[in-house]
Amino acid sequence: MSSSAEVFAQLSKWKSGSAKLYMSWAISGVSGWCIGVLKHVASSELHFGIDAIDRKDFLFVINVHSTYQPQFRFVDNREAWQFFAPQRERSEFGKTLEIMLRGSGADKYGGKVILASAMAFCLEMKKKDLTPKQMSSVRCPTCGVAAGMRCELYSGGLRSAPHVDRKLAAADAVEAKNKSQRSRTSYLRPKASADVLCGNPSAKHGDV
Ligand SMILES: [Zn+2]
Repeated sequence: MSSSAEVFAQLSKWKSGSAKLYMSWAISGVSGWCIGVLKHVASSELHFGIDAIDRKDFLFVINVHSTYQPQFRFVDNREAWQFFAPQRERSEFGKTLEIMLRGSGADKYGGKVILASAMAFCLEMKKKDLTPKQMSSVRCPTCGVAAGMRCELYSGGLRSAPHVDRKLAAADAVEAKNKSQRSRTSYLRPKASADVLCGNPSAKHGDV
């Protein structure tokens, strides 16, 4: 088990950064999965939503009040455990939290919810859409080179590929640009991209 202080620190971090999370659940014979963000984090309950879907149409509430005796555990992705994410590679996930919930009455086992940082997955999806020129179109937050310049090694030489943070920043910049273009030409069918899976608010489910 992980300490609840550690768990809530991570949950708050995910929420404040609007981190894309993969959630899977298995509760009394019902299971499923989706990608979204934490909308609300409190010691009594967690709200999980999807930016592209209005909250009145989709909201997943995880009751973690102490009377339900939730058990938290950070799962090591290298463990040989039953994989929670069908059709996905473990490498697509970062920090992974397992929440065991207690059932009511005689039902000892309530269910299990997994929340996993899906950054790597979103990055892979985004990178597919980027050209090398686009990847270098922003200043690198890691080595500090200006837009258009190649990333540098600590030793001063040139890197063969941009730093990961720069790819992410470039993907965000391209996404923001696409978004403003989309709103100007909304009659055009938007290009299917990582947006839907990564929960971009501008993406509609019909895009894929
Ligand atoms: Zn760099």
